[in-house]
Amino acid sequence: LVIPDFAALRTEIFAIYEGLRGVDEGQVADYIPQLGRVDPEKFGIALCTTDGQRFALGDAESVFCVQSICKPINYCLALEQHGAEQVHRHVGREPSGRGFNELTLNNEGLPHNPMINSGAIMCCSLLRPSCEMADRFDHVAETWRRLAGGGAVGFNNAVYLSERRTADRNFALGYFMREHRAFPDGTDLTETLEFYFQCCSIEVDARSLSVVAASLANGGVNPLTRERIFSADTVRKCLSLMSSCGMYDYSGEFAFAIGLPAKSGVSGGLMIVVPGVLGICVWSPRLDALGNSVRGVAFCKELVNRFNFHVYDTL
Ligand code: GLN
Repeated sequence: LVIPDFAALRTEIFAIYEGLRGVDEGQVADYIPQLGRVDPEKFGIALCTTDGQRFALGDAESVFCVQSICKPINYCLALEQHGAEQVHRHVGREPSGRGFNELTLNNEGLPHNPMINSGAIMCCSLLRPSCEMADRFDHVAETWRRLAGGGAVGFNNAVYLSERRTADRNFALGYFMREHRAFPDGTDLTETLEFYFQCCSIEVDARSLSVVAASLANGGVNPLTRERIFSADTVRKCLSLMSSCGMYDYSGEFAFAIGLPAKSGVSGGLMIVVPGVLGICVWSPRLDALGNSVRGVAFCKELVNRFNFHVYDTL
């Protein structure tokens, strides 16, 4: 067993959960009404080890949209389809040091990395571009289902419609990249953006997202179904970029203090990977000024205080 004393882990996680329930700092994202209406008190935690032990607390079965947490999955899919060399002709792999939706490209006129909006839009353009939109979305949704191993994976059409209507910045990023000829030849920009909004509108619950995280922690093999979804090499590259770029403008501090690959989204979801050990999802909608879940970040701090999960803890 990767966690020999699972009962002790549960007790500690429960203590962290109890300690954070009263935290009410931060604001729910309100750029679309569907996010603004979410109950800010929602708080779910779920965990799945790489040998399939599971545990969930609080609102772990309430669904929320993945938003930016679609970015690492789409990056993995792009790598699987094209290989790293081809993918990185269109997107960089350095932290941008700028906001997640800032109108900026790197010195080569490419998005800085796949974990910010411009890079995520670019990854969408790379996913089966010659197929019908419906098939492209099915491909992504089916991958989420396989990663979640039978857990909840859905689609929120209201979120999608709102995202599409409130998308000036993402359209601006798209046109900016097109001006710089960053996209593959033949890219349909409108379809690419709509595909990105659809991916952001995929719905999960904390339980299913913890299994997705555990599949990454397990090198691309779902620990419940034993199915290989991504190669170990793809996952390694994805986790590296999650470590350096996964937490918006807090990524550097997060890598320093927490030392784990993670990805957050504006819905308040947070996916944390302890490589080789377990995957965790924390969902709590109130966000800090940088756009990360307040309780999610606080949970991570508590986690590495209590367990030696920081990548350099064993030195
Ligand atoms: N749909 C959001 C956007 O593109 C997702 C971004 C996020 O979660 N930070 O603006």
